[in-house]
Amino acid sequence: MAIVDELPYGGTCALRGCDPKKVLVGAAELTDWSRRMRGRGIAGEAEISWPDLMRFKRTFTDPVPAARKQAFTHAGIATYCGLARFVGAERLSVDGQVLEARHFVIAAGAKPRRLDIPGEDHLVTSTDFLELDRLPERIAFVGAGYISFEFAHLARRAGAEVTVVGRGKPLEHFEQDLVARLADHTRSLGIDLRVDTEATGIEKRGSSYQLRLTAQGRTETLEADLIVHGAGRTPNLEGLNSAWRTSRQSPTAACG
Ligand SMILES: Cc1cc2nc3c(=O)[nH]c(=O)nc-3n(C[C@H](O)[C@H](O)[C@H](O)COP(=O)(O)OP(=O)(O)OC[C@H]3O[C@@H](n4cnc5c(N)ncnc54)[C@H](O)[C@@H]3O)c2cc1C
Repeated sequence: MAIVDELPYGGTCALRGCDPKKVLVGAAELTDWSRRMRGRGIAGEAEISWPDLMRFKRTFTDPVPAARKQAFTHAGIATYCGLARFVGAERLSVDGQVLEARHFVIAAGAKPRRLDIPGEDHLVTSTDFLELDRLPERIAFVGAGYISFEFAHLARRAGAEVTVVGRGKPLEHFEQDLVARLADHTRSLGIDLRVDTEATGIEKRGSSYQLRLTAQGRTETLEADLIVHGAGRTPNLEGLNSAWRTSRQSPTAACG
């Protein structure tokens, strides 16, 4: 039995998704609770120190790849590092090596979907956001799904000016009565939540970005220091196709 990953072992949840996010959101919850308890037996104000919080987050994520690799080896599973591409019905190429097997389990996860708007390459991904050493002052999230909402609340509580832009209803797959309450609360925190608004282009101007928006036929430009892709993810299958050019996908960290 063998496992292949082009990124460090651990997958999205443990390294680039749920787990690191929960560490950061935990700190945001704590500051929020402390603010709500001020004058009710709690004095002073809890504040997020972003660099310290990122260091703390890394104490959870950094040990994962080596521990996972060791666990695979211990269980008798061979580990391969690199982009896996099918070169035959029973043949997989990994970094020049060909692996043969009767059965393959494809568990390639998801990646941010392409938006096909000008300047799309200026968007950073959720993975980039979770690695920020410094939190920019003005952050815009394109897409109003759960990743944008969680990151927006976190960034706001860490002191950033935050805008969330969704082209339809926010959190459209969630229970809408609860979503309406969350939307009200989101705005009460000072997050600029825009619904029925389409992001149509991004331009870099000096060290900041201009995000072009269209809502009800009107066009507007929003300036931000960072624009985060929160507009949905699609199955990450292209890389498995031997005809697909590998240069289109460059992993953010090499696997070990
Ligand atoms: C920011 C964020 C927050 C999230 N928060 C939550 C949460 O709170 N709760 C929750 O339940 N879910 C959450 N999720 C979703 C969760 O992370 C995913 O559902 C889960 O990781 C999917 O697991 P998987 O094994 O299918 O894929 P993944 O964990 O993505 O693993 C797929 C692996 O395949 C590798 N790979 C892909 N193609 C190839 C190839 N051709 N060759 C070699 N390797 C390849 C990738 O590098 C990756 O490591 C979150 C996701 C994100 C992005």
